[in-house]
Formats: sequence, structure tokens, C-alpha cells
Amino acid sequence: MDTMKAALMYGPGDIRVEQVEKPVCAEDGMLINIKAVGLCGSDIRHLTTDSRPGEYPCIFGHEHSGVIAEIGQKVKTDLKEGDRVFVSPVLPFPGAHAAMGGFAEYLPLSAWNLETSNVLPLPDDVPFERVIITEPLSSVYSCQDAVNVKIGQTVVVIGAGPVGCLHAALARARGASKVIVLELLDERLKMAEQFEPDHILRGADQLMDGADGDPVRAVLDLTDGRGADHVISANPSTVAQQQAVFMCAEGGVVTLFGGVPRGALTALDTNTIHYSSIWVYGHFGFSLEENRKAYDLICSGQFDGDKYVSRIMPLDGINEAVELARTGQVLKIVFNP
Ligand SMILES: [Zn+2]
Repeated sequence: MDTMKAALMYGPGDIRVEQVEKPVCAEDGMLINIKAVGLCGSDIRHLTTDSRPGEYPCIFGHEHSGVIAEIGQKVKTDLKEGDRVFVSPVLPFPGAHAAMGGFAEYLPLSAWNLETSNVLPLPDDVPFERVIITEPLSSVYSCQDAVNVKIGQTVVVIGAGPVGCLHAALARARGASKVIVLELLDERLKMAEQFEPDHILRGADQLMDGADGDPVRAVLDLTDGRGADHVISANPSTVAQQQAVFMCAEGGVVTLFGGVPRGALTALDTNTIHYSSIWVYGHFGFSLEENRKAYDLICSGQFDGDKYVSRIMPLDGINEAVELARTGQVLKIVFNP
């Protein structure tokens, strides 16, 4: 039996790197030799909680790039074996066992995967590690398109993880005149500087009613008391979602981008939402077209993907990586399986 290395999740926080059976290439599918796979905030949530009850062990990882190892004989494509490619997230076939992800040496793509995911050729000068930023950028791109962040607007981003930093950089690229980033952790306050927002402020993990250090008050002060046109909550905190409403300008948009712990409820001040005519919008995901646009932004160099990759390590380091990312000591970690 041919084997491959993979990081298997056996339960919450129980991740083991093991040799498992190497997947075979279907006649109407492809087999990808994964060269780089990013550790995403959502992966950390899945890996540390009971995300797939009854389905362990399973393999996560959805920000991947690699080389085409095999193409099934029934597949019609211009791609060839040996081509370097970016592969957008692979959705489990409805009803199928969701065991396969990119934290492994090989990823099999079924015919259905080839229909519902992008497999895009990678220019020779774009490293595998850089292009994986396409995946988080796709959601960010899709979101800002949906809420129409535009020239001259003030945008607040709560959370300076990789996604928050992508939001800050994209808002700037779309012409926002003032970009304000809020973050709780020291390391990330420092890391946010390279994306050159106009203001980087320390967040707060509770509502502060205008007391010293209240991020709501700080945003109001920076906007002549108006609040921001857009407040994007890109973090897992219900308090940040509460604060977002109070930072938003009349007629502005509060976007809930980051997921909060399952079952957690946020108490929103609906009078503020009502009397200030605030839109509250939730965003998740992207279309294949938006994924392709984000891929173009990264591959053309218009968007500097390398800035978001803090560290590249072997897959064996996955437990250490989860800890480093969870505690905010790095932006994104990329594995070379
Ligand atoms: Zn992701």
C-alpha cells in the first residue's frame, strides 16, 4: 500500500501527524501533490472544537497549492501532470464522508470537486506559499464588494489577524480615506503596522461606556463624532460585535465577518441600529469568479501575499502552529507537507 503523510484530527485538540493510505486518482478526477497549505482561523476553530462529531479521524486544510500528480483519463482539461496549480477550497460531496483536506501530501479531487472548485495554473514566479493567500482574500474581496467599500469612506476593522489585515489593505486599495484597525493583542498591534492603516488602536474586551481607552470613543473622536461608514468585525468576539454598532455612522454598515463560538449570542443595541439606520450584514464565502479575481490580485503582485505569511514550517509542526496562531503570535502559518 502506498502511503502519505497527513495531519489527522481524532477529536478536539487531538491532532496527529501519521502515515495513511495515499488516495488514488479517480478516472474523472485529479490527484494534487500539496506543496503548501495555510492554517486558517476556521481550521483552528475546527481542530480545537468538536467540529465533526462521529466523523473522526478527518483531515482539514483548505488553503492549498501544489503540483498535479495525476489526471484521470476522462478529464478534459488544458492542464497537464506536473503543472503547478492553486486549488480553491474543496467542498465535501453532499452526503460524502468529509475526511479529506489539504493537511496531507496528496489531495484527491473528484469530478464534482473539479466542477465546484478552481484549479488554476500558477505562474512560475509565484511561490506556492504566496498564492494560498488567495483563499482568505477571496472572502474579503467578496465581502467588500457586497457592502461596497468605496472612495472617501472611513473603515474600521476590528481584529488584526490575517483576515483583518487583508480587510484593511483592501479597503485602502478601494479608496477608503481613513482606515482604522483595532486589536487586543500586543504582537498583532505591532504586525498591523506593515499594512499602513491610518490608525492602529488597542481594542477592549468589554463595553467601556466612553471611559478612558474605550475604542468606541476613540473611533468617534477620529471621525468628528460621526462614526465609521463601515465597521467590519473580523474576530471571534461577541463584544466586538456589540462595539461595532456603537462605532458605526448613521446609515453605515456593520459587517459580521468572523464567526463567534458556536451557540454564543450577541446582545446588540437595536435602538442604535434602528434610530441610526444602520445596516447589519453577515458575510461568508465567495464565488468561483471572486476567487479568480483574488488569485489575479495575488499573482499580478497588486496585492502582496508574502506580507501575510509569517512562517513556513513542515506539517509535523501543526500542533505548535495552532498554538502560535491561536495566541496571536503570528499572522499566517503555511505548511510544506
Ligand atoms: Zn481559510
